[in-house]
Amino acid sequence: MMCIVSAWKDDSSNGNRTDKILSIEILALKPVFEESPLQRFDCHIHLDPGVVQQSDLLGKMRSAGISGGILISIPPPSFVKLCQPHPTGERLDNLMQWVEGAPDLHPFYWIDPLEEDANEQVELAVRRGVHGFKVICNRFYPGDERPMAVFTKIAQARMPLLFHSGILWDGEASSRYNRPVEFEALIYIPGLKFALAHISWPWCDELIAVYGKFQNAHSRDASLAIEMFIDMTPGTPPIYREEALTRLFTVGYDVNRNVLFGTDCTANDYNQAWVRKWINNDDAIYKKLGLDVSTLKGIYSGNLLRFLDTAPANPEFIKLCAAE
Ligand SMILES: [Zn+2]
Repeated sequence: MMCIVSAWKDDSSNGNRTDKILSIEILALKPVFEESPLQRFDCHIHLDPGVVQQSDLLGKMRSAGISGGILISIPPPSFVKLCQPHPTGERLDNLMQWVEGAPDLHPFYWIDPLEEDANEQVELAVRRGVHGFKVICNRFYPGDERPMAVFTKIAQARMPLLFHSGILWDGEASSRYNRPVEFEALIYIPGLKFALAHISWPWCDELIAVYGKFQNAHSRDASLAIEMFIDMTPGTPPIYREEALTRLFTVGYDVNRNVLFGTDCTANDYNQAWVRKWINNDDAIYKKLGLDVSTLKGIYSGNLLRFLDTAPANPEFIKLCAAE
């Protein structure tokens, strides 16, 4: 715990009392990690078909030190190698059952923007009370015309959008649609808040560069109402993790308010050991990097709450310009 002692001086040399801080003494400074435990939210939890067992999930999350997070619906039917096809209504019913009465579980509807009725699905999901949308670009580029129209509708509904990015394990030749640079196209969607998952592994450098691109775009146009978040869910195999996080946090870009913690667990069998392992692993890296408490609070809770906030995207980035 940090303790600050200040002393005040009565400066009467000019007849007026002026208070000045004489000294700030740090009596004891222990590592931030020894302070009271951080509240942690998991921004990346999948739902598999099957029985809804919310209390079991909440119990497992609690024992892994997780207070809540984002639940992503069963995949759309085009993901034939991930699960049997389930219709929209059934996927939405299942999603809403998982979060019922649990305010810290945030329902995200996984939408396929190439489905004929995708726009109606956005409206229906919003009416049902989802808090956001998930998209995996499995056979289209994010900048293609039809997906862009659906993303625009999601932005107009003031809903955040969580994308997969990086190598895609769907059993198909689909990863090329998920390279970070393809998401530059989103710069033309006013008001959109979006996150790219997995630090785009193995294209982490490209993701960092795209993030810088958005930060620079804000420096050029302060009215630009779009905000990019980085979902740090692994993704990154352990041997790449320290390098990726070190680059992300030391590149010099304004990332601290826009990074999110996630696990890629399933709600049906929340893997506490996996969650604890990644928290311990990441915390050791953060300690080496010397991240302060407010940054850690952002990573584990504050940034996610900002991502979920229905207020329009209005990032306040530090300027990022070349040669200034
Ligand atoms: Zn995932």
